[in-house]
Amino acid sequence: MNGSECSGSGAADAAGMPRDPAFLASLAASLLDDGGMAGGMALVYLDRDRVCRHADRHFAAALDRSPAELVGRPLAAIDHPVTAALGAAIAALGQSPAHGSAPVDCPTLGCDGRRSILSGSVTAHRDGAGTILGYLGTFHQTGDPDRIAQFVTCRDSFVATLLDAAVDGIIVSDRSGTIRSINRACCRLFGYEDSELVGRSMTILMPPPFSRDHARYVDTYMRTERAKIIGIGRDTLGQRKDGTVFPIHLSVGEARMGDDVTFVGIIRDISDRLAAEQRASYLARHDPLTGVLTRTAFLEECEALFAGHRAGGPEGGSADGSANGGMFALFALDVDQFSDVNEAFGFHVGDAALKAMVSRVTEVLPPNTIICRIAADEFAALSRVADADQARTLAGVLHDRLTASIYADRHWVRLRLSVGAAVQDETVSTLEDLNAKAKLALQAVQHNGGNAICFYTPEMAAAATRRMMLTMHLTHAIERNELRLVYQPIVDRAGRVRSAEALLRWDHHALGPVSPGEFIPVAEESGLIVPITDWVLSTAIAQMTAWEAEGVLPDRVFLNISGQQFLRGNLTLRLEELLGEHPSLRSHLGLEITEQAAVRDLKVAVRTLGELAALGIQAAIDDFGSGYSSLSYVQQLPVAKLKIDRAFVIDVPENPKSNALVRAAVGMAHGLGLTTVAEGVETAEQRDFLVSVGCDMMQGYLFGRPMAPEALADMVRTQAAPAIA
Ligand code: C2E
Ligand code: MG
Ligand code: MG
Repeated sequence: MNGSECSGSGAADAAGMPRDPAFLASLAASLLDDGGMAGGMALVYLDRDRVCRHADRHFAAALDRSPAELVGRPLAAIDHPVTAALGAAIAALGQSPAHGSAPVDCPTLGCDGRRSILSGSVTAHRDGAGTILGYLGTFHQTGDPDRIAQFVTCRDSFVATLLDAAVDGIIVSDRSGTIRSINRACCRLFGYEDSELVGRSMTILMPPPFSRDHARYVDTYMRTERAKIIGIGRDTLGQRKDGTVFPIHLSVGEARMGDDVTFVGIIRDISDRLAAEQRASYLARHDPLTGVLTRTAFLEECEALFAGHRAGGPEGGSADGSANGGMFALFALDVDQFSDVNEAFGFHVGDAALKAMVSRVTEVLPPNTIICRIAADEFAALSRVADADQARTLAGVLHDRLTASIYADRHWVRLRLSVGAAVQDETVSTLEDLNAKAKLALQAVQHNGGNAICFYTPEMAAAATRRMMLTMHLTHAIERNELRLVYQPIVDRAGRVRSAEALLRWDHHALGPVSPGEFIPVAEESGLIVPITDWVLSTAIAQMTAWEAEGVLPDRVFLNISGQQFLRGNLTLRLEELLGEHPSLRSHLGLEITEQAAVRDLKVAVRTLGELAALGIQAAIDDFGSGYSSLSYVQQLPVAKLKIDRAFVIDVPENPKSNALVRAAVGMAHGLGLTTVAEGVETAEQRDFLVSVGCDMMQGYLFGRPMAPEALADMVRTQAAPAIA
């Protein structure tokens, strides 16, 4: 001991060193126990006032200072974790005088960035009476990573608490993959006690392919010092003590301790996350309501099936292993006016009906059929069939089953269903082809009123193209002034013009005249019917105003209103608005709606017709006999006229069946207090028959074709002349 490093204290002997036997024994033991000491013994002596009286160079170095900087200074004035730890240990000694010494462990960080532990104890120096004279601290400094790791994870109670409180598993291993310490969560995760793991290889926690990879990985690291995994988390598998394998996310950090490297692995059980991901990917591919595939997933699966079939060749059997050879059939299904079900019964009934629908599709179509939900009420199904005939039979059964009553959430529901179908023939080489054809077939069904089955034919493509082109041109028809109204007279039994029907004409500048039979359905499908109807209403009312001024206004002018406009539009409001300035026209206006439109939503029809009647507007059922022909429906509607469809009039009086039907219709209409109008009267024989059965009014080429407003005005004027005269 160098005298210059020591200054005596009054309580110590002449050499400044203690004489207390216990103290000296401890000192001797510390000095002799030099094992594992990397930096030599570090010594410090403080007097009872905790002023540093001696510090050797090892102790001073641990504090990054020289001994001279420490000696003579109170411990509290030296700012360092070691002096803080020393102070705490001395305080502990003071509290329990029975203890001669207290442990001190403190991590240090050298100015070179290396970590080490200063580990040892502080011993109280007492005189013979037990009075404290000073304190001797003796330490080893070590940079051994195991010691450091152990110290950090076990002896530092704060860190230990933190690690054990962590939800994730934390493992500290050395560079060879030997586990040095492990937290509680990790033990729980893998089902081990920590004593079963510390000192074992990390591979004990991995299932075979991964444990082999890990060994190879450690080997590479030992040779190259390069560790690909550091800083990059990855999903892998863990193995519990009981052998069960489970998915984990592992992220590894590297900590340099002294000269060596320690790895810290953070492990998270990702079973729940993977389950959630699987659920999410299931939901991405399946419709949550019905469980069938989504459109994208359907196309993928069908494409794969198609490709498999192509690879197998036409004779090579099917990808699903069902029929030998055969072909694919694609059915496109669309519920007509499904929103009516939702509106009438609520969404829960609509949902239940859709689910029931899917289970019926599954029942009817062959096993391994792929089904998807394309939109709310649109489905598609790809099946393998033996031939086109089987596809037709299946489509028929499908339509029958799906349009049969469904008991959905305590309500009986009947759906109207349009089925477009296409079978794979030599013109179909891809799924897209088949899909496009089934869609065209579906469009054709819908175009013709829906609730039917249609198989693709080549003409459909041309018709669809024409419809598309017409839609495009129709968009500009109003602004280009291409629309006009013509009027067809409706005469009484004496042949006098009593009313007229306004009929729309479209003269396209390039295509020429397009018949309303063709463009009205296009307008309905595209929604253009809304502005077009508005144009018809305002044009007709303007015409009626002019006729009224001229004194040639017929008793009633009937306008045709499409079902879509009638059931959904704010027709009453619009008419009130238009008639506001011409109240006298109310009793001269009539609307024709088809039987189908009226019965499609009877409630709305009854309400709207009631509102119109309140305004003084008369309503007529158009084309009676061409649809449901149910007088029980008609009887519920506040209408004044029934127009008997041309199809019945055409073969009277030759066809006895038609005669009977017309006679019955007139009789029943009269029974209900309705006036009858026969449409399409072309011959005098037809007229005479109709008069003989009591028909009230007639309309047809016999009395006048649809004509320009001036021509109709002339007709009215001419026949009025004798009456005035
Ligand atoms: P509709 O309402 O049943 O009109 C009667 C149709 O029969 C008219 O055809 C008329 O020209 C035709 N017709 C009248 N008498 C005879 C006859 O003696 N023989 C023959 N062969 N035909 C006769 P048009 O004008 O081609 O209209 C066809 C359908 O287009 C109409 O049937 C109606 O449903 C619809 N439509 C016409 N204009 C409008 C309109 O402004 N709005 C709406 N929504 N539909 C309209
Ligand atoms: Mg009509
Ligand atoms: Mg008609």
